[in-house]
Amino acid sequence: MYRNCYDMKKYTFDITIIGAGPAGSMAAKRAAEKGASVLLIEKDKYAGIPVRCAEGVYRDEITRLVDIDDSWICSKIIFSELVSPDGNRVRAAEDASGFILDRKKFDQALAILSVESGADLRTETYASGMKKNVHGEWEVSACTRGEDIKILTKVVIGADGVESRVGRWAGIDTSLKLREIESCCQFTLADLNIDDQTVQFYMSKEFAPGGYAWVFPKSGGLANVGLGILGTYVKDVNPEKSLKNFVKRYFPEGRVISQIAGGVPVLPGLKDMVADGVLLAGDAARQVDPLSGGGITNSMAAGIMAAEHAVRSIEQKDTSKKNLTAYQKEWDRKFGKKMRLSSKLKKVVDDLDEEVFNNLVGKMSLLPQQKRTPFAFFKTLLLNQPKLFLDVAKFIL
Ligand SMILES: Cc1cc2nc3c(=O)[nH]c(=O)nc-3n(C[C@H](O)[C@H](O)[C@H](O)COP(=O)(O)OP(=O)(O)OC[C@H]3O[C@@H](n4cnc5c(N)ncnc54)[C@H](O)[C@@H]3O)c2cc1C
Repeated sequence: MYRNCYDMKKYTFDITIIGAGPAGSMAAKRAAEKGASVLLIEKDKYAGIPVRCAEGVYRDEITRLVDIDDSWICSKIIFSELVSPDGNRVRAAEDASGFILDRKKFDQALAILSVESGADLRTETYASGMKKNVHGEWEVSACTRGEDIKILTKVVIGADGVESRVGRWAGIDTSLKLREIESCCQFTLADLNIDDQTVQFYMSKEFAPGGYAWVFPKSGGLANVGLGILGTYVKDVNPEKSLKNFVKRYFPEGRVISQIAGGVPVLPGLKDMVADGVLLAGDAARQVDPLSGGGITNSMAAGIMAAEHAVRSIEQKDTSKKNLTAYQKEWDRKFGKKMRLSSKLKKVVDDLDEEVFNNLVGKMSLLPQQKRTPFAFFKTLLLNQPKLFLDVAKFIL
C-alpha cells in the first residue's frame, strides 16, 4: 500500500515532514505536487491509528480542502443539540453542516494521497532529534523498524501533533500553560439509543469545567462520547472519572468499546511557528480552534500552507526564519481573527454561571427551530449579558 524508501541509512530530501496526521499528509501532498522531494515519516505502523479524536468536521470546511470519499464518513450530521447544566435540551436549526469521520480510514487515505502525489512515506519511523550541519541544513535522526538513520534536509515541517518535539528541537517555545490546554477523555460507546444525525453538546461545570462534553454519533448505536476539562481544573476534576459519571447519568445503557485520552490546545496559535529551516503545522503549532476544539481542518489547511512556503523558500534558496515568517503572516491573515475571536468567546463562555446557560437554553427553546442558529445563540447570550457585548464586539467589528 505504501511506497517505501530504499537504503535509509543516510538520505537526502528537500523537505522532511514529521508526523502523518492531517497536517503532515496534506503538507506532503502539496509539497510533492509542487515538485519537491518529500519524506513523510510516521512513528506508528499506520497513519491515523490510534485515533485520538471525536472525528467531527464541518462539511464546508473539509470539502474545501479535499474531495471527500463516502467511505471515510461514519455519519452525516444535520442537527445539533445543546444541553444545559439542568439537563434541558434545545435542538438548533437544521443545517446539514457536518460529518463524523472514520479517522482510521481518513488519515490513511490522506497519507496515500500524499504518496500518489510523489511523497515517500515511511511508517514505524520515529524522529528522535535534529541538528544543523555546517552547511546550515538540518540532519534529522530517526529510528526506522529498529535501524538508526539520518535524513539530510533543507526544510523540516513539524506536524507531530500536540506533544510536538520538533518545535523544541528548533528552539521554538511550544510550552503550554494550564489554561491553554484541555485534558480530554473519550469512550466509544455501543448500544446507544440516539439519533445518528444529531451531535449533542453538554455545558456543565460539574462534568466538564472550562470545556464541554460531546456525543458524536457514528451510526448503528455507536458514538464518541467524551469531555474536555481546562487544565486549571484538572487537579480538582479527573477527566476519566468525570466521564464515567457523565455516562452513568446520561447513557447508562452504553457499553464502552474503547477509550482514549488526549490534550487539545486552546490558545489562538503559537507566537512563533517558524525557525530557520523549520515550520510547524497543525496541533504542533497550536492551530486548533479554541472554542470548538476542532483541529482537523485547520491542521490540513496549515499543512498545505506550510508546504507552499517551504517549497517557495527552497526555490528562493532562502530557508531562513525571516523568509519563512511569510507562512505565519499568511496564517494570521486567513485564520488569526477567527482564532482570537474563538479564544475570547471561550473565555466568555467559561466564565458564565450555569444559571445563564439554563436561561439561554430556555430562551432558545422559545424560538422556532429554524431560527435557532449559532448567531441567534450568541445574540441571545450577549443580550442577556450586556457587559460582555463590548468586549466581544471589538473582535467582530
Ligand atoms: C479527545 C479529542 C477529541 C477531538 N475531537 C476533534 C473533533 O471532533 N474534530 C476536530 O476537528 N478535531 C478534534 N480533535 C483535535 C484533532 O484530533 C487534532 O487537531 C488533529 O488530529 C491535529 O492534526 P495534526 O496532523 O496536527 O496532528 P495529529 O493528528 O496528532 O498527528 C500527528 C502525527 O505525528 C506522529 N508523530 C508524533 N511524534 C512523532 C515523531 N517523533 N516521529 C514520527 N511521527 C511522530 C503521531 O504518531 C501522529 O500520527 C480532538 C482531539 C482530542 C484529543
